[in-house]
Amino acid sequence: MAILRDNGSQKETRQTDVVIIGGGLAGLSAARKLTAHGKDVLVLEATDRVGGRTYTVQSVSGVPIDMGGQWIGPTQINIVRLAAEFGIATFPSYDTGQTVGYHQGQRFLYPGLIPTVDPASTQEINQAIQQLDEMALQVPLDSPWLAEQAALWDGQTAASWLSATVTSLIAREWLTAFLFENVFSAAPQSLSLLHVLFYIHSSGGVQTLLATTGGAQDRRFRRGAQQVALALAGELGMRVLLNQPVRTVIQQPQGVEIHSDRLIVKAHHAIVALAPTLAGRLWYQPALPGRRDHLTQQFPMAAVIKVHCIYDRPFWREEGLSGLAIGTPGALSAVLDNSPEDGKQGVLVGFVHGDKALLWSTRSAEERRAELLNCFSRFFGPQAGQPKEYLEQSWIEEPFIRGGYVGYLPPGAWTSCGEELRKPVDRIHWAGTETATVWNGYMDGAVQSGERAAAEILADVH
Ligand SMILES: Cc1cc2nc3c(=O)[nH]c(=O)nc-3n(C[C@H](O)[C@H](O)[C@H](O)COP(=O)(O)OP(=O)(O)OC[C@H]3O[C@@H](n4cnc5c(N)ncnc54)[C@H](O)[C@@H]3O)c2cc1C
Repeated sequence: MAILRDNGSQKETRQTDVVIIGGGLAGLSAARKLTAHGKDVLVLEATDRVGGRTYTVQSVSGVPIDMGGQWIGPTQINIVRLAAEFGIATFPSYDTGQTVGYHQGQRFLYPGLIPTVDPASTQEINQAIQQLDEMALQVPLDSPWLAEQAALWDGQTAASWLSATVTSLIAREWLTAFLFENVFSAAPQSLSLLHVLFYIHSSGGVQTLLATTGGAQDRRFRRGAQQVALALAGELGMRVLLNQPVRTVIQQPQGVEIHSDRLIVKAHHAIVALAPTLAGRLWYQPALPGRRDHLTQQFPMAAVIKVHCIYDRPFWREEGLSGLAIGTPGALSAVLDNSPEDGKQGVLVGFVHGDKALLWSTRSAEERRAELLNCFSRFFGPQAGQPKEYLEQSWIEEPFIRGGYVGYLPPGAWTSCGEELRKPVDRIHWAGTETATVWNGYMDGAVQSGERAAAEILADVH
């Protein structure tokens, strides 16, 4: 170990084979694969914890609460495998009873995912889903910009497609709230239609994205989703360094040099395992190719505030309700049952999405709480407005995340710069769920991306 001078301050210098920036699921999965193949690695994580967008806290009444990513589904083979390897227990999400809808001040109940109050709207929703699924299959997962209709689809937003395709107000509102806002946490007018189609293909279809049983919301981790990152970090031990915000990435002919606030790490390769917009905030020497930088300039994070209400019991189940509520009674547009496996306490989780999250993040905590509890009441009655505990997390305010669930591409970005997404820049490789080809945006995609970046380095002859 050497001590070097850097801008007048002393920094420790470390040497390793591969330095990984970011201690989320992507960075940690990359590290695991590389160490399994005999590489020496160091993971530099900016904050005082691993897990990034997975973060589990204990409620006062002892319920593990996932403030970030939480659900997994049966086709998410990467995260399922990893959890199984570490013996991390999961349980099926509660999925019995009717769904609550809310449209123009009216609350209504229906079975399943798609509202049945108006047959014409139901038909339009089904047709829209079928159309999206069919178009999605035409988008190549590793190169969406090569889809035959890429220019056409990347030239419009999800909102413009919706208004050109769907006429019924109920159908439009449901597709906006449940598909676009709930799945992307972004306003449909911000989302490229090509990006929406890519995302649908990468998960296996709209039904898989939206469904609880058999879909993306099928199961949860008994002790919370951050368990996976904690298990990975536990295995990696001293190779994971916390409180190391990386600022600078220098490429030299023989290797890379990474500067965090307190460390200099010299390595043969680097993996940047950050959401693209955050990757774009590092200072690269030499500067990255212009097109790569333009990709990260066009890759905003979606915006989300996740809210939990904890009750003595899941009272809505007694009323034959599943806990799923979709609609726009105010700032909230989706609520789900998030009670612990034994159902001894009741937990509802709600989401404030996209532009609404940006707006409500500027209000006082008291104003926000009052508005959100009002929404819970409109969906589930007055009891829902009186939780014994209330927890909220605005991912917009996280300095090293800056939003969620995930980064998305607005119109024009895939076709102009998408090719740069995974292309290494000499010794710098890119990971993070936004770079995944399957289950892009999900924990599963994060694992896939990390393992793929590791495989690139293992195959490299540098
Ligand atoms: C509210 C919410 C709900 C979600 N729900 C689900 C769900 O139910 N199911 C699901 O599968 N997915 C869900 N997701 C998405 C899922 O959490 C993410 O896809 C996944 O965790 C991303 O992992 P990652 O490693 O790619 O990125 P991250 O988790 O963002 O990891 C990146 C890490 O890099 C660190 N970092 C940033 N900048 C620097 C720097 N300069 N130097 C060093 N370190 C840095 C960050 O602190 C972070 O730890 C949700 C996300 C959110 C926010």
